[in-house]
Amino acid sequence: MKFGGTSIGTASAMKQAMRIVTEESAKAAPLVVLSACSGITNKLIQIAESAGGSRLEEAMELAGEVRRHHRELVETLIGDAGRKAALMERVEGYVAELEMLVKGVDIVGELTPRSFDTFCSFGELLSTSVFSEALRDAGHDAVWLDIREVIITDDNFGAARPLDELCEKNVSTAVRPLLEQGKTVITQGFIGSTKDGRTTTFGRGGSDFTAALLGAWLSSDQIQIWTDVDGVMTSDPRIVPDARSIRVMTFSEAAELAYLGAKVLHPDTIAPAVRHNIPVYVLNAHHPAARGTVITDDPALLEGMSYGGLVKSIAVKKGQCIVNFRSNRMLGRHGFLVDFFNVFARAGVSVEMISTSEVSVSLTVSDSPKVEEIARELGRMGEVELEHRVATVSVVGDNLRTSKGVAGRIFSSLKSVNLRMISQGASEINVGFVVEEGDVPKALQSLHREFFSGEETSRIFDTPVQKRG
Ligand code: ADP
Ligand code: ASP
Ligand code: MG
Repeated sequence: MKFGGTSIGTASAMKQAMRIVTEESAKAAPLVVLSACSGITNKLIQIAESAGGSRLEEAMELAGEVRRHHRELVETLIGDAGRKAALMERVEGYVAELEMLVKGVDIVGELTPRSFDTFCSFGELLSTSVFSEALRDAGHDAVWLDIREVIITDDNFGAARPLDELCEKNVSTAVRPLLEQGKTVITQGFIGSTKDGRTTTFGRGGSDFTAALLGAWLSSDQIQIWTDVDGVMTSDPRIVPDARSIRVMTFSEAAELAYLGAKVLHPDTIAPAVRHNIPVYVLNAHHPAARGTVITDDPALLEGMSYGGLVKSIAVKKGQCIVNFRSNRMLGRHGFLVDFFNVFARAGVSVEMISTSEVSVSLTVSDSPKVEEIARELGRMGEVELEHRVATVSVVGDNLRTSKGVAGRIFSSLKSVNLRMISQGASEINVGFVVEEGDVPKALQSLHREFFSGEETSRIFDTPVQKRG
């Protein structure tokens, strides 16, 4: 069971998550993976950047806010005086360590990826400490586990990946026995450790990935991702207020959606579940009775639940940049594109959507200062033009593979939107295009009306869910 930041961010959210965990543990002891409380990882990143930028006072002030937030949780959630004092001391220990790191980085005057990951790890260490003690205070047989002793990763700080064999062995010696003794295990998402004990992270949103990995290594019968909306929805409910909750989707649809920007799942979550064929449930912690989404390839679960509609969901990724490139030297010449893409490879920038003709290439990348560097180098090979502040929008559904006329419906519903680029995904289950960021709400809402307002779709969807703040 994984709970995201908003599902444990406040005392009342934590109580709600405790109820959900307690109910589950009546069936079998669950392994519970937590994110940091909402807003805390962002704050830790700000602290790291302030420390690295010689803004010591600002960093210490923000560390004080982290302390205050968790002290308040302890104050509200823990009844037993002795337990409360011990937990306050533990919170103080972590925050003191954080402040020491701030001072260290300030003295050295440089924030390395290695220390950046250590900064980020305090959010999960703190949230899990409070949560497990609150459960114990309520009489629950819960144990806190430092996941850095189990998930051993490579040393790619900021985007680490697990060393599978080692982790699987650790899970069977250090996690499985606890569960078999009936203990509810509370541990951190997002973080891990190198072989020599340096703290690493999986990258933003990585707690979903932790949960999927642990579920796979334990061969669990299911992985539950508890979040702040009614499962995976037909689009981002913050942009499309009419978005509906999807009952069931295939692994490939969910993976594609996550890759294409739907924040509800970290893009790496699906792979471990697919490898072990474990269904992933996406559920609403604020509204547990609402029907969430099950992600599965099991024909029995898919049958009857999947609707005949063409499109499952519409994803959006903002903060992108289009690189338009044109050179007559491309015409009829082999090897030119190798040189072209090598420029991106050398800069360590990942290319996302691509569209080509004989003499031009358009593609999108996540916008960053590196893009200007790339443009300068490409300028030696041909004409380059950048379009900043654009977003990719992708229409996803397994049925797109076999249906006709979808592109027609997509583009006729977008008559009033300026399309900057178009690409049919090679996976055949998505059609994507690029719009200016300001056009995102209009584009998403028009598409949503086109594909999800018909009578035929209502059978598998809930009534529109409430938009959450
Ligand atoms: P958590 O803290 O639980 O990991 P996230 O904020 O990472 O939660 O992800 C949940 C959010 O993802 C939702 O609040 C919603 O705004 C956004 N989102 C984007 N696309 C979708 C989608 N297709 N379905 C559901 N939520 C989506
Ligand atoms: N706390 C981390 C983040 O905010 C990981 C997560 O929430 O999944 O990115
Ligand atoms: Mg998330």
